[in-house]
Amino acid sequence: MASQSHKVSIAENHRHKQLVEQVLDQVPDANAIDSAYAVQLQEQIKALLIEKNAVIIAHYYTDPLIQALAEETGGVVSDSLEMARFGNQHAADSLVVAGVKFMGETAKILTPHKRVLMPTLEATCSLDVGCPAGEFALFCDQHPDRTVVVYANTSAAVKARADWVVTSSIALDVVDHLDSLGKKILWAPDKYLGGYIQKNTGADMLMWDGSCIVHEEFKAKGIIDLQQVYPQAAVLVHPESPESVVDIADVVGSTSQLIAAAQSLPQQQMIVATDQGIFYKMQQAVPDKQLIIAPTGGSGASCRSCANCPWMGMNSLENLHACLKQGSNEIAVDADTSAKAYKSLERMMNFKVSN
Ligand code: SF4
Repeated sequence: MASQSHKVSIAENHRHKQLVEQVLDQVPDANAIDSAYAVQLQEQIKALLIEKNAVIIAHYYTDPLIQALAEETGGVVSDSLEMARFGNQHAADSLVVAGVKFMGETAKILTPHKRVLMPTLEATCSLDVGCPAGEFALFCDQHPDRTVVVYANTSAAVKARADWVVTSSIALDVVDHLDSLGKKILWAPDKYLGGYIQKNTGADMLMWDGSCIVHEEFKAKGIIDLQQVYPQAAVLVHPESPESVVDIADVVGSTSQLIAAAQSLPQQQMIVATDQGIFYKMQQAVPDKQLIIAPTGGSGASCRSCANCPWMGMNSLENLHACLKQGSNEIAVDADTSAKAYKSLERMMNFKVSN
């Protein structure tokens, strides 16, 4: 089986990384608020949700204060697949998506008749930034014989160019299915997730060279050192992590799959290689177990995230309150892009249902 990588030039690859760094430089520091103010905002948001017939859809990586509020008000805290499904099926007129921009776009594409608001439109993702739609379309044009499968962490325009969209919870199953049909795959943008899938399915995959700045920082050596301190601990790893980290995992999976694994595994301690925001829901699921964050490169090295996605961290009670009150930061996706992206997203939604 042939496995290939997208042959970007060194200069091109460097430019993509610079693009990510430039966007990252604009992320403001998180604004800590005192608990009395947080309670005040939470009460005001609850009232606004009723007044506007809105519901909060929050990702596992957002501030625990937002996750708790979503749960308390009948919303959801989940991975991106479940976020998409929940928004699609919920009766509310407005969806408030706390996460990063591609999640708001996905919600809008799947439920165009609803108003989709986000606490901030500046929250993006290194995978999205590192896969510009124009360049990606050219890449696809060069390989017309391949089925284009893109990760959910992409812009609406990239999804519109794809045959399939997948989340990390079903990426492996979808590629395995396509491989069984004899399809050759063009995969984008996460090279680590793509490499993991390729290794496990043997599929012929041509890959874009993108990565998540959070998961890329986990270090196998750091985890092995930590296992000396916690020899009984299970190692749970998100597949956006480098291969060396995935190789030492007891369980590799999406955020929802890692929470399920924390529940089903017999170990009482878990070393977890994904964004620390997941600890809010994971600890709820396993209140008696000890959760330990996997080591990263550290702030003194190249780490810009240290297991905390800076863009997820841009969501706050303050800007969530502001967007609801003012009806601001509404997501819009042009009709043509939306119609094309809908087809590839719909395949994902139907695949999950039928498998
Ligand atoms: S954690 Fe990584 S993949 Fe998720 S939004 Fe942040 S940069 Fe993107």
